[in-house]
Amino acid sequence: MQYTDIAVIGAGLAGVSCARQLAAAGSQVTVFDKSKGMGGRMATRRGDGFSVDHGAQYFTAQQPDFHAEIHAWQAAGLCAPWQARLVQHRPTGPVDGYPEHRYVATPGMSSLCRALAAALPVQLNHRLTALQRQADGWQLSFADQPSWRARQVLLAAPAPQAAALLDAAPALRALAAGVEMEACWAVMLHAQAPLEIGFDAAWVEHGPLRWLARNSSKPGRSGAESWLLHATPAWSAAHIDAPADEVAGLLHAAFAELVDSAVDARNRSAHRWLYAQAAQPLDIGSAYQAELGLGLCGDWCLGTRVEDAWRSGRHLAGQLLAAS
Ligand SMILES: Cc1cc2nc3c(=O)[nH]c(=O)nc-3n(C[C@H](O)[C@H](O)[C@H](O)COP(=O)(O)OP(=O)(O)OC[C@H]3O[C@@H](n4cnc5c(N)ncnc54)[C@H](O)[C@@H]3O)c2cc1C
Repeated sequence: MQYTDIAVIGAGLAGVSCARQLAAAGSQVTVFDKSKGMGGRMATRRGDGFSVDHGAQYFTAQQPDFHAEIHAWQAAGLCAPWQARLVQHRPTGPVDGYPEHRYVATPGMSSLCRALAAALPVQLNHRLTALQRQADGWQLSFADQPSWRARQVLLAAPAPQAAALLDAAPALRALAAGVEMEACWAVMLHAQAPLEIGFDAAWVEHGPLRWLARNSSKPGRSGAESWLLHATPAWSAAHIDAPADEVAGLLHAAFAELVDSAVDARNRSAHRWLYAQAAQPLDIGSAYQAELGLGLCGDWCLGTRVEDAWRSGRHLAGQLLAAS
């Protein structure tokens, strides 16, 4: 059975920033993710001649430390400012959106975690299914993969997915189980021709859509014009089990109605985020039980955004290093 001193479960920004900090302090750490790619909800779908970020759309910095981190990423060519023409779309029509410094990873949102984890050992296609306590740590069981052993396990997954793995740690389980995460349907459209509608992105204040963005207006993107649509949490919940094709059709039609223009698409697809963002995040940074060698991090420990994920991962690494 393979061994790692610290197993980080989740290759989203929380897991990757946690693992980077631990590795920088000399810890032997391995990152595992159930997906075939890195980045978690910072996700990019690539199609024939186009790509679309279908999870997180952009990031902003509230705190100076994340601001400094963004500047370091920018200097390394990992992200760039997004100068979108952004509007608030009200029932009466579009008005100028709130000015903010918005950044996107380049060439796609998923590339950030891939770059940040380049020097870390990462095991993709590893879905953790069970954690068993042993005298000297944990045995990790994975679906269709050999088991591993680790002295410490850090779960950097959305709260409900973390809770499902925490039978051996009732207090941590209760913490994660108490956080509800809302769903979000995302629709990706590969447009036939550029849309002349006067804006690149909109926060929508009416109807089934919450957000729409001309993905191809983001820096570093290549290929044909593409659009991303996000439904509201209420609409997404009401259509949670609807077939993806049906959802793509409904939201495509809502988009065309909103912009009052035919939107011809070469192709379209829909993705359901079951755990998109916490309804009521905690304010704990992260959680760590040194006596169990078990910790939790993720955006939901602090908020709903990329910055919260980054900060939570580093918070957990700090707790672990302080305890060792
Ligand atoms: C539709 C949508 C729009 C968003 N828009 C924005 C935005 O514009 N700006 C912003 O700042 N934030 C936005 N967010 C939020 C942002 O994406 C998250 O805050 C951030 O990416 C969370 O990072 P994380 O590392 O905490 O979790 P995740 O990115 O979810 O990473 C968790 C990882 O754990 C893995 N995992 C889960 N269970 C297991 C298991 N059993 N075994 C192995 N691996 C497992 C998952 O595959 C995943 O890769 C959006 C999110 C969504 C879904």
